[in-house]
Amino acid sequence: MLSLKIYYDFHIHSCLSPCGDDEMTPNNLVNMAQLAGLNAIALTDHNTCGNCAAAATVAEELGMIFLPGMELCTAEEAHVVCLFPNIEAAERFEAQIAPTLPPIQNRPEIFGEQILCDTEDRQVGTKDILLTTASAISVDSVAKLARSCGGTAFPAHIDRPSYSVTAALGDLPPLGFAAVEITKNGNVEELSSRYAEIVGKPLLQNSDAHHLEDIQDAGPYLDLPDNSPETIIAALNGEIPFTWQR
Ligand SMILES: [Zn+2]
Ligand SMILES: [Zn+2]
Repeated sequence: MLSLKIYYDFHIHSCLSPCGDDEMTPNNLVNMAQLAGLNAIALTDHNTCGNCAAAATVAEELGMIFLPGMELCTAEEAHVVCLFPNIEAAERFEAQIAPTLPPIQNRPEIFGEQILCDTEDRQVGTKDILLTTASAISVDSVAKLARSCGGTAFPAHIDRPSYSVTAALGDLPPLGFAAVEITKNGNVEELSSRYAEIVGKPLLQNSDAHHLEDIQDAGPYLDLPDNSPETIIAALNGEIPFTWQR
């Protein structure tokens, strides 16, 4: 079987996230990922895929595998990274999330700008609704919802004391996720003994970058039969066997 090491970073924020640096434009972040030696990236702004179409175009021009995505904040205030094979799938998912967000307006002077860009990094608008609120989507329904749109989902930064599934629920119960994200500094041994749910699952290491310099260097990889977004999604859904390295 063909085997391909895919150096990835599947958790990156753009200038559309209020906490994301204004320099995290589509061209900047995709070019930085390429300089870092990555083969595949995902753009995962809080509760929106609004800058993914622009970033996907830029990534395609550079030959970088790109997965549109979103870091969904669930009703329990747990962050879950959701990835999709293409823009259409991501937009189907977003169409189901958007109506569940509370109608709170962003206050850029307090929370930061939420900037929509085109493929030339020109600002084409801003999102008015605050994107860092909790949706009404329950954490136990996210995996199924993402899969129903052709995507995948995994709990974000489970070793963090805030906005993680573990912080929100005090545990990591079976929620239908086939992969888990642990930060670079997470103690895998300790987490594995505390949460039986992660044993045997791929443990992803992403940057959660909000600034260009935080996008991770090539290191963690997935070893897959090919590098298509569909294969990456299938692997993260536990549908094909593969090896990985943090
Ligand atoms: Zn998060
Ligand atoms: Zn994040």
